[in-house]
Amino acid sequence: MKRVHNFNAGPSALPLSALELARDELLDFEGSGMSILEHSHRGKEYEKVHDETLGLIRSLMAVPETHDILLLQGGAHQQFAQIPMNLLMPGQSADYVLTGGWSERAYEEAKNVGTVRLAATTGVDHGGKTVYRRIPRFDELQLHPEAAYVHITSNNTLFGTQWAAFPETKAPLVIDMSSDIMSRPVDVSKIGLIYAGAQKNVGPSGITIVIIHKDLVQNARKDIPKIFRYSTHAKERSLYNTPPTFAVYLARNVLRWVKELGGLTAIEARNRQKTDVLYAAIDSRPDFYKCPVEQGSRSRMNIVFNLPTPALEDEFVAAAKKKDMVGLKGHRSVGGIRVSTYNAVEPSSIDALVAFMDEFARSKA
Ligand code: PMP
Repeated sequence: MKRVHNFNAGPSALPLSALELARDELLDFEGSGMSILEHSHRGKEYEKVHDETLGLIRSLMAVPETHDILLLQGGAHQQFAQIPMNLLMPGQSADYVLTGGWSERAYEEAKNVGTVRLAATTGVDHGGKTVYRRIPRFDELQLHPEAAYVHITSNNTLFGTQWAAFPETKAPLVIDMSSDIMSRPVDVSKIGLIYAGAQKNVGPSGITIVIIHKDLVQNARKDIPKIFRYSTHAKERSLYNTPPTFAVYLARNVLRWVKELGGLTAIEARNRQKTDVLYAAIDSRPDFYKCPVEQGSRSRMNIVFNLPTPALEDEFVAAAKKKDMVGLKGHRSVGGIRVSTYNAVEPSSIDALVAFMDEFARSKA
């Protein structure tokens, strides 16, 4: 069996132990004579998996009892709509901070539901395209005193920027953590709503984690279809309708691995070490590799950089592939190189990439 160095932006690398456990249990789950894929979501076997997954999220992220944890479907895109549907009352507006392509999407979708305001943007024009190179300073945020909520994107998957700390806001803070959930400890008690597709740090695609303050659930709008109300899913422990049972099972396996590794403090240290090595490799050859992101805004999850020409970037991606390093091409809307260093990416994969970067740069000198 050959496993490559997987730098995909999502779906992305999963811990080997999580996949191995799934393989070992696939045909006969815990002596039940059938696969977890074949179990009813109302049966005790699946319910145990479901509760273990919810319990692991709660303990790993230290989610206080003031917050509900929901396992939903529809991805972060559904949340772009579901958040304003639930939290934006008639006559109110919500504040959005734009730091990349995904926050733009969230903002545009919310406009289809209600009134939104631009609280800040770090977008700048670059040859007719809007690009984002930094996270705003807190004093740049122009927040409305009566906003229903303030929406930010903690890690910008396309542009390789990340909030190092979150602003203190009067209105509940709503954070799209799709690409950095569980990569570091965060103080959930200070956040109104966190949402994230699972397919980067938590598991396969198919589940969206929503962590929401119970007050927001209770006070949410009731005049929307039942399936979109957070209260529906909170009341039923995310078993109102059939959940994506296999995705929840696989997330359980991934979260067991996170726990064994030492939880989010250990994960953060590991991610820091990986990205320190990678940024050092980029910065050590400033004539060849250039990270366009401002120092204080650099992401610890998606590291973006450019080579002197797009042709060299293509050559870099092709040569890396020959060495079993995949997923390095930047997002189609921004180009360049992007290395996703999610939790499951092993430090040894980063070491292999750094060695390759050195070799490639020297071959072109
Ligand atoms: N937000 C962020 C920060 C993302 O990285 C992504 C996906 N790459 C999305 C939203 C969209 O997620 P989904 O495809 O699950 O809707």
